[in-house]
Amino acid sequence: MTDVSRDTFDQVMVPNYSPLKVIPVKGEGCKLWDKEGNEYIDFAGGIAVNALGHCHPELVNALKVQGEKLWHLSNVFTNEPALELAQKMVDNTFADKVFFANSGGEANEAAFKLARKYASENFGPEKNEIISFKQSFHGRTLFTVSVGGQPKYTQGFEPLPQGITHLEYNNIEELVKVVSDKTCAIVLEPVQGEGGIIPADKAFVEKVRELCDKYNAVMIFDEIQTGMGRTGELFAYMLHGIEPDVLTSAKALGGGFPIGAMLAKEKFAAALKVGTHGSTYGGNALGCAVASKAFDIISSQEVLNGVKEKRNLFNTKLQMINEKYEIFDEVRGEGLLIGCALKEEYLGRARDFMVAALEQNLMLLMAGPNVVRMAPSLLVTEAEIEQGMVAFEKAIAKVLSA
Ligand SMILES: *Cc1c(COP(=O)(O)O)cnc(C)c1O
Repeated sequence: MTDVSRDTFDQVMVPNYSPLKVIPVKGEGCKLWDKEGNEYIDFAGGIAVNALGHCHPELVNALKVQGEKLWHLSNVFTNEPALELAQKMVDNTFADKVFFANSGGEANEAAFKLARKYASENFGPEKNEIISFKQSFHGRTLFTVSVGGQPKYTQGFEPLPQGITHLEYNNIEELVKVVSDKTCAIVLEPVQGEGGIIPADKAFVEKVRELCDKYNAVMIFDEIQTGMGRTGELFAYMLHGIEPDVLTSAKALGGGFPIGAMLAKEKFAAALKVGTHGSTYGGNALGCAVASKAFDIISSQEVLNGVKEKRNLFNTKLQMINEKYEIFDEVRGEGLLIGCALKEEYLGRARDFMVAALEQNLMLLMAGPNVVRMAPSLLVTEAEIEQGMVAFEKAIAKVLSA
């Protein structure tokens, strides 16, 4: 076997990432181990992907069983795991139809293309404006970074797709002013993830719904991070008592196996007629078999209720830490999507806390430079939360004393 190390990354990988020094080689539940056998508590969860932890035995089994049966066919044929998964998604959500992709960005790409197609076919080509929000994140393809509201991700990639307007998130007044008959879609994350764990106000979500109805615009919820149990509901739209027209899912959907999905109401799905869109791997049997098992486990009431209980314990522990060290302005986000927003004097230092936590064998995330983020397995135990919080407190003490 080729001998590799962290240095190999700098030698042979495109420098678009800057990975930490530790290279995990094995995972089980909320634990990870590196080559030297050091054990880590994982509250990063592959950035909200490993919703059932690492190597959940039932997912491993689903992968093995399907792996010995059938992996891939092409879309000239359909396959049973894809049909089963789509049926479950339709039965348990607002949606009538499902399109499978391999990632979140691709699911969003499908959603944005659907919105444009629906509008141009039903109302004409002038209806092409996509309204999106500042700080939002929707993926890294050229269309999805352009819809996303973080200019740093589009700089240097111009010319960009046109017809996209970025407004202030949660600002009803501005939205009302800008939305028009030209608007073909309004897209938002119910909790902005990469943008800093910022939840949408209920009134804002309701207004988006109302305006989409009024102007025949497609209401797209990007639930790639908030979806699949993360908030304690199967999808975060369920917290708001409204239904979007189109919803995208990925990350937790496959529990670590790459898969994405776009869910849509019949009326809108009809715009993607035969031949209008596609994906070679999207809906492959292997990915769908794993996701189908993940869906069964995540959608159980026991797991969803557990998310809310676990969040309460996180809140209690984080509050105790904050009373002692006074570093967070607020702890926000829904369920097990937790954002600890740093106080003014610590702005820009989320990475310092993340690196210090790793030295205490705890894996955390950032959501921008000012927010420490946690997105652990939905199955994280009370003992693991307590152990992780002890490590987090030590890391904070170190940063403050440095
Ligand atoms: C991660 C993420 C994406 C992009 O998903 P990829 O699988 O990386 O393409 C899109 N939207 C949101 C809200 C995300 O969190």
